[in-house]
Amino acid sequence: MRYAIIGAGLSGLTAAYEIHRADPTAHIDVLEAGERIGGKLFTVPFASGPTDMGAEAYLAARGDATEFFTELGLRDSLVSPSNARSLLYAGGELRGIPRGGVMGIPAELADASATEPTVSWEVGGDASVGALVRAAYGEEIVDTLVSALLGGVYSSTADDLGVRATIPALAQALDTLAESGEPLRLSSAVKLVEEGRRGSTASKPVFGTFRGGYAELYETLAEKSGADIHLDCFVSSITAREGGFEVKGGVGIYDRIVLAVPAPTAAVLLRDIAPGASPHLNSIRLASSVVVGMKFDAAEGLPEASGILVAANEPGITAKAFTFSSRKWPHLGDRGGALVRASFGRLGDDAAVRMDEDELVDIALDDLHRITGFDGRAAGLSEIYVQRWFGGLPAYGVGHLSVAAAARGEIARIEGLEAIGAWAGGVGVPAVIADARAAVARLTGAGN
Ligand SMILES: Cc1cc2nc3c(=O)[nH]c(=O)nc-3n(C[C@H](O)[C@H](O)[C@H](O)COP(=O)(O)OP(=O)(O)OC[C@H]3O[C@@H](n4cnc5c(N)ncnc54)[C@H](O)[C@@H]3O)c2cc1C
Repeated sequence: MRYAIIGAGLSGLTAAYEIHRADPTAHIDVLEAGERIGGKLFTVPFASGPTDMGAEAYLAARGDATEFFTELGLRDSLVSPSNARSLLYAGGELRGIPRGGVMGIPAELADASATEPTVSWEVGGDASVGALVRAAYGEEIVDTLVSALLGGVYSSTADDLGVRATIPALAQALDTLAESGEPLRLSSAVKLVEEGRRGSTASKPVFGTFRGGYAELYETLAEKSGADIHLDCFVSSITAREGGFEVKGGVGIYDRIVLAVPAPTAAVLLRDIAPGASPHLNSIRLASSVVVGMKFDAAEGLPEASGILVAANEPGITAKAFTFSSRKWPHLGDRGGALVRASFGRLGDDAAVRMDEDELVDIALDDLHRITGFDGRAAGLSEIYVQRWFGGLPAYGVGHLSVAAAARGEIARIEGLEAIGAWAGGVGVPAVIADARAAVARLTGAGN
């Protein structure tokens, strides 16, 4: 059986590994447009040690990912974060992120004497997170807290994200309340989510990462997949042929195809073989961002926090977040000095992503200084890496789950074809892995 996988990011490499596991005799070509594997996972060799410039953590609370990494022989590489907490910069002040609530949405109005308006919600429906929270709690909480928290995951503001795809537990709570026919208050839904969470809070750390960076994962997957990985191999079309698929950029005819590329690219590549899927995939927008990695010789004056989220509407500040990697991860702190990642860019705002590199580093240093008082220039900036992520993350907008399901429905009509990746089953590393594994089980019949 001959397989072509388009894209050597996390989803493509996971698929290659899983196919090889299910059928060790399969011939697998992974066709990658770039000059390296990993996609949005990218570990850069700083002089001080391997440093991630894309994803830098994973949700360890999801046991399936940890199990998968253990199966790959990477258990001893997994490390946990320190207890340092994240801070919020809003209204010119640094403060703690309020505990409780869900994604920054509190379980009650800030002004307890005010009456909370009801919100409109249909069972099974969806709404923009921004619109929903604004209707119930007002403008401020959306721009300060909710957009900052969601933006950290999705590079989009709350207005561009749908409740059902980004805070599914809240959508379910709203469904439950709507079914009961009671007046619908956001605070009641948030309380319901909090109740559901109670008791399930395990003592395990919520996040994890790899001691040697994500390269440990993508290199292991590539190595154990037994696949032929073709770099600098841009695939421009796929056509159905007698007995299989022809891939422009591939070698010969393939029995089965796995598309592991961002949604708009999948839309183009499916034009001939699954044209019904393309409009759905094309409607998924991508958010661009840029990460500036900075290694300082000294750490004195850097807050004892894992990082800072910046309110979306904060005047005079361009950065949307800082990760104090050396405070967040003890193994990085052990390198001495300070390692800081500044992040810029949200859906519809890619000015920073296009900025000149020197200007961007200057802004990162100035914003950091202004917010924390830490003078990075005085601390000695020994290493810098600027990584631009054009179209880095799909925006999970209102109705995203239906869009993804519709695309999947069209793709399922073509035998021997699967399309996976961050657009399909969640943007986080565990979700991307789980989705790729499920797709391979369908493709190889291993799940039957
Ligand atoms: C800045 C940033 C920070 C993140 N942080 C985290 C985090 O801390 N934790 C977390 O869980 N997740 C994080 N994520 C999300 C996570 O990294 C991604 O969702 C995941 O890595 C996406 O994997 P993928 O395989 O779907 O796509 P990609 O990594 O985009 O891989 C797709 C591959 O396809 C290739 N390709 C595209 N077009 C073609 C073509 N025509 N022909 C051949 N090849 C092609 C690309 O070059 C790429 O290598 C982050 C994402 C970004 C951008």
